[in-house]
Amino acid sequence: MENKELSKEVVSKNFIEQIIEKDLAEGKVKEIKTRFPPEPNGYLHIGHAKSILLNYGLAQQYGGTFNLRFDDTNPTKEKVEYVDSIIEDVHWIGGDYENRLFYASDYFHDMYEAAIKLIKKGKAYVCDLSADEIREYRGTLTEVGKNSPYRERNIDENLEMFINMKEGKYGDGEKVLRAKIDMTSPNMNMRDPIIYRIARMTHHNTGDDWCIYPMYDFAHPIEDAIENITHSICTLEFEDHRPLYDWFLKEIGYENPPQQIEFAKLYLTNVITGKRYIKKLVDDGIVDGWDDPRLVTISALRRRGFTPSSIKMFMELCGVSKNNSSVDYAMLEYCIREDLKLTVPRVMAVLDPIKVIITNYPEGQIEYLEAANNQEEESMGTRQIPFARELYIDRDDFMVEPAKKYFRLYPGNEVRLMNAYFVKCEDYKLDEDGNVTEVYCTYDPETKSGSGFNARKVKGTIHWLAAEKAIPVEVRLYENIVDEDKGVYKEDGSVNLNPNSLTTLKNCYLEPNAIERIQDISAHNAFQFLRNGYFCVDSKDSTKEKLVFNRIVSLKSSYRPVTK
Ligand code: ATP
Ligand code: MG
Repeated sequence: MENKELSKEVVSKNFIEQIIEKDLAEGKVKEIKTRFPPEPNGYLHIGHAKSILLNYGLAQQYGGTFNLRFDDTNPTKEKVEYVDSIIEDVHWIGGDYENRLFYASDYFHDMYEAAIKLIKKGKAYVCDLSADEIREYRGTLTEVGKNSPYRERNIDENLEMFINMKEGKYGDGEKVLRAKIDMTSPNMNMRDPIIYRIARMTHHNTGDDWCIYPMYDFAHPIEDAIENITHSICTLEFEDHRPLYDWFLKEIGYENPPQQIEFAKLYLTNVITGKRYIKKLVDDGIVDGWDDPRLVTISALRRRGFTPSSIKMFMELCGVSKNNSSVDYAMLEYCIREDLKLTVPRVMAVLDPIKVIITNYPEGQIEYLEAANNQEEESMGTRQIPFARELYIDRDDFMVEPAKKYFRLYPGNEVRLMNAYFVKCEDYKLDEDGNVTEVYCTYDPETKSGSGFNARKVKGTIHWLAAEKAIPVEVRLYENIVDEDKGVYKEDGSVNLNPNSLTTLKNCYLEPNAIERIQDISAHNAFQFLRNGYFCVDSKDSTKEKLVFNRIVSLKSSYRPVTK
């Protein structure tokens, strides 16, 4: 019995958990140490959220520690703006690194010392070949490489030249330091990779202290080793780099070296995740910055109204795998609906208003009707909503000539006004172009919601607002930024854009009660707009005078989770 339970538990572990548990059981490691190592060359996106939650989650699960480390070894593309945004996003998503915030650039000196060590061991050499020559000498997947003519430089000469590289005695790109491994290796990464290059660039952290910068493959294992990382988790494209990662750690001589483990990147269907592509949309002004709600950067998801818990739930549904595959964006939408379903108030909003006049309701009278804040969650209580003679309803809840199976308002038909009365359409008015401007109804005072009236039934229920109490707001509706039919990328690498990805509705109205709930426009103020979807106050463009709402997701779903 007990054994069965145990084996069941083992099966449900992902492959990284299995490795960690084995390492712990064998005493190979005592305390799990993981890290998230972003390069500050852009904002974080949903793929990074996966990496953060995975690394942080493992540290939590096994009572270890989690570091945030900026992999800031390439100053050309790095900016302080990105550092700041990454810190904010890691916090928000719940990657609690406490005080363990590190910068790879703080280890530049250790990296330099490590390079000196390799030179002294005869494991690294200064090479004068040009970039093109190095490429040529490297060979191809089917052809072995050739040794550089500088490969046999003696140790003293190498040392002197490397020190001169650091001292700025050569021009940019004039020489490089290379690892001396094997130009015939079937693994191209092992063909004497470059360790250091000369480049006069101002670094956001170290300024002009250095004119030589280490390459990623050399720097990364050193960063991990310095921080005593036990499991260095990265994505699959680094699998072929693992022998080099291990080679550096061994040759530099770290005790208890970290172990690199690769997992598959998170890809979403019809969504742009690569930092490079997102940056291009930002630079080309196609989107309103890195936090444009149509993007899947963490800051965009936050602005749109996603919650950390919905993203966490999404990652749990996705799981961790060794095979690349794409996840349907609808699954992320499912998670946010689930998260908000029982936690946010449901209110009435009219996005495309037409006026309804209740001709038998006294002019100037206002009455307050009780409505549940969330029909599925009684504990959220009730509120009072104003009712009056003049109302707004949504334009598509009225038709002059009803379509088949249309149960909403049309001449002669009776519907329920949600939380209020039955109303019957008696007449309507059109403008010169044939657009409906006003609808005239009568109401039946006997049919008040909650009164137990059941003498007759109606088939349609629509939402509404008392015109004089309704608050004007702007609403933004989003569709995928990518044209789904044409595929994500064009041949030239640019994105096939959906021209309808943003619809701005400037003439919308919302219940006064919803507005009263909003104390701080920079907080997460989300609502369900009844019969429509989930919406959140836009923290960037909203003002006290005019609130802007982003539609997070509509109510309809095409995604059903596989039930366990
Ligand atoms: P991009 O491909 O978008 O440019 P990157 O991998 O270059 O991202 P880094 O800042 O170097 O971005 O990555 C930080 C960490 O996030 C790395 O460990 C990387 O493997 C991980 N990561 C990046 N993209 C994804 C993804 N789509 N899914 C899971 N993890 C990812
Ligand atoms: Mg990168």
